[in-house]
Order: sequence, then C-alpha cells, then structure tokens
Amino acid sequence: MSLDIFLDDQELISRIQKLKKERNAVILAHSYERPEIQDIADYVGDSLELSRLAAKTDADVIVFCSVHFMAETAKILSPQKTVLLPAAEAGCPLADMITPTQLAIKKAEHPNAAVVAYVNCSAEIKAMADVCCTSANAVQVVDAMPQDEILFVPDQHLGRWVQTQTDKKIILWAGCCPTHQRMKVKDILDLKQQYPDAEVIVHPESNKDICDLANAILSTSQMLRYCQASESKTFVICTEMGMLHRLRTAMPDKTFLQPSKGLICPNMKMTQLEDVYESLKELKHPIEIPEPIRIKALQALNGMLAAVPLK
Ligand code: SF4
Repeated sequence: MSLDIFLDDQELISRIQKLKKERNAVILAHSYERPEIQDIADYVGDSLELSRLAAKTDADVIVFCSVHFMAETAKILSPQKTVLLPAAEAGCPLADMITPTQLAIKKAEHPNAAVVAYVNCSAEIKAMADVCCTSANAVQVVDAMPQDEILFVPDQHLGRWVQTQTDKKIILWAGCCPTHQRMKVKDILDLKQQYPDAEVIVHPESNKDICDLANAILSTSQMLRYCQASESKTFVICTEMGMLHRLRTAMPDKTFLQPSKGLICPNMKMTQLEDVYESLKELKHPIEIPEPIRIKALQALNGMLAAVPLK
C-alpha cells in the first residue's frame, strides 16, 4: 500500500488537480457520489449525461466516479479513451439481478417482444437488448418500438411505471434497486405533515406506494431542472442521499429533505479521494469490453438516441 494514502484531503485534491492536467483527464461523478467527490469533479450528472459528455471531450482519460456499469457505458461510447473506475469493487446490485443466460431464456419465452434495457445493466445485457433507455426517456423509447410487447429489464419499478404511461404490454423483470426499496411511506407522510407545502419528488426506481405520493416522478437530471423551475421552496427528495448535495449546491435558497435516514447506496459511496488520486496516478482500474459485445451494446444505446434524441 502506498504511503501517499495518508495525505490530507487538501494535499490529495491539489495532487489530483495536477495529475488531471498531466494526464489530460476529466473527472466525472454521479449525483449519488460523496459530496467531496462531486466537488472535485469536472461534471456531476446522471450516468448517460456523463457518458455522453465523456464522449464529447478531448480528454484522453476519463475518471468515472460511479459504479461499474456506468463506467462501462462511457467505454462503450468512447472506446479509444482510457476509462477508469477508481473503486474497482463498486458494482450495482440492480445490474447484477440479470445475467445473459437468464435473459436468453426469457427472450425465448417471449419471441415477439422487444427487449428494452434500462441503462443500469451490464454491457453484455445491453448487447442482447433491442434498445436501451434511461429513467428520463423510458416511456418514449417503449412507445417508439414497433413491437406491441416489451420485455423491460432489469428494474421492475421503472417498468411498472412505464406500463402506466403506455398502451404496450410490458413484461417485467424482477429486479430492483435495494437503496430505493428502503424508502418508507410513513417517513414521507411524516415530512409532509411537518412541511405541508413541500413537493414530493420521486425517482421511478421506487416502489409503487412511494410513487403514489409523488407530485412528480423524475430521473435525477429531471429533478434538478424541475426544482429550479418550481416556485416551491421545499422539496422531499425520494432518491439516494447524494442527490441532495447536488440540489443544495445548485439551489442554496431552497430546502431539500430526505424522507428515510441513511438512504445510501453503499456502492456509490465507495469512491474516496484516495481512490481518485490512485486511479489517476497508476491509471487504475481501466474498463475493458470485448469488441463484439461493445459494438452490439453501442447499437442498443444508439437505438435509444435515434428513438429519443437527448436534449
Ligand atoms: Fe444500483 Fe441502486 Fe446503487 Fe443506483 S442506487 S447504483 S441502481 S444499487
């Protein structure tokens, strides 16, 4: 283990900035990352926003502070760049709830269904899908498919919410995000009692009983824009707690509350300043994807962009 890891935060941050220039690197952080990671990032956003930013920059190295499938998405879009995941063990339990073998069996059971894969899945699953979607564009992507039946993977709650917005038949996959699952109706109702004017903003990975309480059901990037445009001063934010740091930083005059204490994704909190420093210094841990899988996964991502161009 390097002695460098005993550096204090200020020294780490200045070394990270120096290495970033030397490597011609860009640091990206998901909105669920630790506050200090969001603060050193060049960009903070949702997974696809960040991957598309990464594809557009002229940086040679992308340090993607997030979980594995997100860094993979950046690599799918930017194969010529070095994409690093600072915390190699940061995975996503939702993405792990579907394997290529399981999906192949389900596809054979529903030969007429189009497979729509939420981007929260591995490159292998994306490669088996007809098209990808995000939580922001899932309804439009589903509606744009020529098939009447949609096998929606891997998040059942997002799929269920899409079903309420479309006439297509949605076949659900039994995956879910364990972090969003932990939210409790009672906690939201308690906050509503204390702050009756607060708007309840819910991520569509949440259970139906939580979605039923929402003023708006939105992806993380939509949450930011919605709260900026809203005249409300107080919001109950029903998603991972890292999002509150992003919202408070962007709108210091508004109040953002979290319903259930400790709504933390442990994987998103794995990346620490030391990991970013080590990653830049040693080029740890590069994402590699076999080219045949990358090309098919890219087709599914491009299919989404063709159906619903991102703004
Ligand atoms: Fe996966 Fe949920 Fe964590 Fe996002 S918040 S990385 S979906 S476990």
